[in-house]
Amino acid sequence: MLPDDKTSVRVAVRVRPLSVRERAEFQKPCLAVSEDESQIIIGTERAFTFDYTFDSNSVQEDVFCETTKDLIDGCFQGLNATILAYGQTGSGKTYTMGTGFDVSIPVENFGIVPRAVDYMFEVMQSRHQEHLDLGRAPPVFDILVQFIELYQDDLVDLLDRATRGSRSKRVKPPRLGEDKNGNVVLHNVSKKPVGSREDILNWLKQGALARTTGSTNMNAQSSRSHAIFTIEIKQAVQQYDEHNCPVEFLTTMAKFHFVDLAGSERLKRTNATGDRQKEGISINCGLLALGNVISKLGDTSIKATHIPYRESKLTRLLQDSLGGNSRTLMIACVSPAEADFVETLNTLRYANRAR
Ligand code: ADP
Ligand code: MG
Repeated sequence: MLPDDKTSVRVAVRVRPLSVRERAEFQKPCLAVSEDESQIIIGTERAFTFDYTFDSNSVQEDVFCETTKDLIDGCFQGLNATILAYGQTGSGKTYTMGTGFDVSIPVENFGIVPRAVDYMFEVMQSRHQEHLDLGRAPPVFDILVQFIELYQDDLVDLLDRATRGSRSKRVKPPRLGEDKNGNVVLHNVSKKPVGSREDILNWLKQGALARTTGSTNMNAQSSRSHAIFTIEIKQAVQQYDEHNCPVEFLTTMAKFHFVDLAGSERLKRTNATGDRQKEGISINCGLLALGNVISKLGDTSIKATHIPYRESKLTRLLQDSLGGNSRTLMIACVSPAEADFVETLNTLRYANRAR
């Protein structure tokens, strides 16, 4: 169960281990983690409290069980969920989220997405069996996946690119619009129906590969764009009347967004000119707007009437999955190295505001 259900926004902080290089440089950790008190103490006794904290010894399984399992249970009750990985480049966002394309890594290193997929199939299996045991028709599940990238103001359909190859351009690029009721709709983006965990992981891998091959500089590109992998769960459950006769179907739909955000680091003043600078402004604008939206959503003291979704494309894109019928988890990833002190402190401040 979630620790407290007053707000729909939760914040976790995960500290990655010092890297081999950092250890070779004799860097010392600049922070301490108290998992019991969910606190991070950085520098001269500055303490921040979060909903969850994970120290550098934490394992993927624990991060998944404590933060994500519940959100998946919610999806089967029709509640949307969003997990956002925030932090500077190299802080462990992709490792934690499991949105990299390398599915040949040891199982214990699998991040949130592959674990979430396994658990979804477990839930579906047991729901199926429960209905059969009661002599009733099992629920019908339809699962769809979508994988998009937001780079500055451009949306890229990664699954479309994966099937067409990076050279051919899609006839119509993805576009954000609105329906009559003011709901955000995404046009021209492919959703792939999937029937197994392998199908989903295969699309994840294809999409992640398409993400890097579409750019000239692989790592740089992926750290400066946001990647959003979405699993949509539709279910139709046969209803029965008091005589146990089948009547209508009850259908529910929920979306789970897994968002690997662009690196939050401040641009080095020296090389941030021209396009780079424009790019930095657009990343910061998106992350800033996201912080504003999340902090408004988490604020139970005032009745936040206006949530500023319109301030950026990122927040508009996620609008129907932040607030309302949705639950949000932000995982702030930080480096413990002294050399990253400033960025780590910035990330903790950002995450603290989101609470
Ligand atoms: P980001 O996506 O934030 O740029 P990565 O997820 O790519 O960062 O992580 C950077 C490096 O640190 C990778 O080599 C990754 O395997 C490693 N790493 C990150 N977090 C952990 C962790 N909790 N345990 C072990 N290695 C980690
Ligand atoms: Mg990454």
